[in-house]
Amino acid sequence: SSHHVSPVFTKALTFGDKVAIVDQNGEHTYRELYCQSLRLSQEICRVLQCPSRDLKEERISFLCPNDASYVVAQWASWMSGGIAVPLYRKHPVQQLEYVIEDSQSALVITTEEYVGKISPSAEKLGVPVLPLGSHSSGSADHTAVEDVPLASSASWKDRGAMIIYTSGTTGRPKGVLSTHKNVQAVTTGLVEKWEWKKEDVILHVLPLHHVHGVINKLLCPLWVGATCIMLPEFSAQMVWKKFLSSQAPRVSVFMAVPTIYAKLIEYYDQHFSQPQVQDFVRAFCQENIRLMVSGSAALPVPVLKKWKAITGHTLLERYGMTEIGMALSNPLHGVRVPGSVGTPLPGVEVRIATETVKGSGRSYTIHAEGDEHGTQVTPGLEGQEGELLVRGSSVFREYWNRPKETKEAFTPDGWFRTGDTAAYHDGVYWIKGRTSVDIIKNGGFKISALEVERQLLSHPHITGEQSVGLWGCTGAHALSLQPGPVLRAALSAFGNEPPSLQPTSSALSPDVAVIGPPDVVWGQRVSAVVQLRKGEMLSVK
Ligand code: ATP
Ligand code: MG
Repeated sequence: SSHHVSPVFTKALTFGDKVAIVDQNGEHTYRELYCQSLRLSQEICRVLQCPSRDLKEERISFLCPNDASYVVAQWASWMSGGIAVPLYRKHPVQQLEYVIEDSQSALVITTEEYVGKISPSAEKLGVPVLPLGSHSSGSADHTAVEDVPLASSASWKDRGAMIIYTSGTTGRPKGVLSTHKNVQAVTTGLVEKWEWKKEDVILHVLPLHHVHGVINKLLCPLWVGATCIMLPEFSAQMVWKKFLSSQAPRVSVFMAVPTIYAKLIEYYDQHFSQPQVQDFVRAFCQENIRLMVSGSAALPVPVLKKWKAITGHTLLERYGMTEIGMALSNPLHGVRVPGSVGTPLPGVEVRIATETVKGSGRSYTIHAEGDEHGTQVTPGLEGQEGELLVRGSSVFREYWNRPKETKEAFTPDGWFRTGDTAAYHDGVYWIKGRTSVDIIKNGGFKISALEVERQLLSHPHITGEQSVGLWGCTGAHALSLQPGPVLRAALSAFGNEPPSLQPTSSALSPDVAVIGPPDVVWGQRVSAVVQLRKGEMLSVK
C-alpha cells in the first residue's frame, strides 16, 4: 500500500543483477547483497534466540571495512527488525566501547579483520560477537532465499533504522536514532534534488559512521540502482586514479568534506604540473563527472575556486547534520552561490529565529521561514542572524536514552533546534557557525568566527588551499583525524582547552583557527592562529 514505507533493501531485488558495489573484493550485485543479508539476518536471529525473526528495535553494532560487508550488516540488521549501529574501524577501543555500551547493543557483527580488535571489548561488555564470512565469493547460492518472508513487513515507517553518533564537537557524542521514515526522507530528498539515476557511479571514500558516508554516498545510489565504488579509505592518489580512469564503471558522482578537496588539490599541485596533463584532467573531469558535492563543514571559497580551475566543476555545497540528515542545498542546475548553502531540500522546512525568554515563558521571533518552494522574510528582519530551526520527515526521533536532551532539542511547537546560526539573504541561506561555539561575544556584539575566518582566508599571505598535514577540527571530524598543528597551536597558546577556549571556526579551514578567549573587558576577545604561506610575514596593524 502507499502507506507502506519500505527500507532500501526491499528495492534491491528489482535491480537484480546490476552491480551495486565494487570494492576491494570485486563486484557485488544487488541480488547477492540481498541474499547475503537475508542469510545473515537469519543468523542474527538465531544467535539472539529470536524465532519470530523480529528483534523489535534491538541494537546491532557492526564494525566493517568500507566494502560490501558494511551493506550486508546494515541490511541484515534491518531485515531482522533491529537498529543498525555502525562502528568506525579507526576509533580507539574506548570509543568503540562507548558506542556499544551507550546504544546497549545486543550483538556486535564484524569481519575476520576486526574480530581481534573488537572481541575483548565485547567480552568485557558481555555482548556476543558474530563474525562475518568472506563476501568475496560472489554469486554463491541464493536458492529460494528470496522467498523467505521478512518478519515485519508492516509499520516500517516509525521503526528505528539506525543510531549514528554525533561528532562530539560540543560535548560527548549523542546517539541519534533515525527511523526508516527519516532515512528514506533524506534519501529520496537527495535523489530528487541531485537527480540520482541508475546509470550513476559514485566513488565512496568517506567513513561509514556519519550521515554523509551512510546516506548521501551509499543509500542514495542503492535507492536508485546505481553503482558505488568503495575505496577502503581516502587516498588522494587513488581518488585521482579513479577520476581519470577510462575503465568502466567510470566515476560520475563524487562527494566529500572540504578537507578532502584540499588534499586532492595538494596532490594535483604536486603531480600534475605539466600543462597538457592539466588540460587532460580538466577535460576528462568535465566530460565524465556530472556532480561534485561538498559538505559536513563550511567550504572555504579558495578551495571552491581552485577546484573549479582544475576540474571545471563548481562544487555543490550543502548543509546537514546527524539529527536532520540533509536540510539545505545549492541547486543542481542554476547558480551555486559561493559561501552559501542554498535552499531547503524537498520535504524540509526551515526557520531562522531568535529566542527570547520573558518571565518563565520562552518565545521566539521568526526572521525567515521557508521550504523548497520559497522563503518568507519578516519585514525589517532581512538578513538577520538567528538559530536555524528545522522540521520535516527527515528529522530524527530521539537521542538514544536521553529523553531530557531530546526534549530540549525541540521548540514547544516541534521544530528541531540545530544549534547553528544562519541568515537568509540574496535568496539563499548562509551558515554562520555553531551558536554555542562559533559565535564570539565581544563587547556585547555577536561575531561569527566563521566570518572572521573567511576574511582571513581571503588574505593572500594566508594559505587556504595547500594544507599539507594541517587539519582543522570539523574538517577532520568526518575523517576522524586529530586536530592539526594550527589548531593545536591555537589551543596551547590559550592554555589548552578549557571549554571557553574551544576552537570556534574550526570548520572552515585547516589553516586558520579563530578563537574567543575570555576577556574581562570585552567578554571574549577575537583571536586567530593562522598558517602563513612560505616566506610571507604578517602583522596586525
Ligand atoms: P555534536 O553534535 O556532538 O557537537 P557535530 O554537530 O559536529 O557534533 P555532526 O552532526 O557530524 O556532529 O555535524 C553537524 C554540524 O556540521 C552542523 O551542525 C554544522 O555545524 C556543521 N556543518 C555541516 N555542513 C556544513 C556546511 N555546509 N557549512 C557549515 N557547517 C556545516
Ligand atoms: Mg551537533
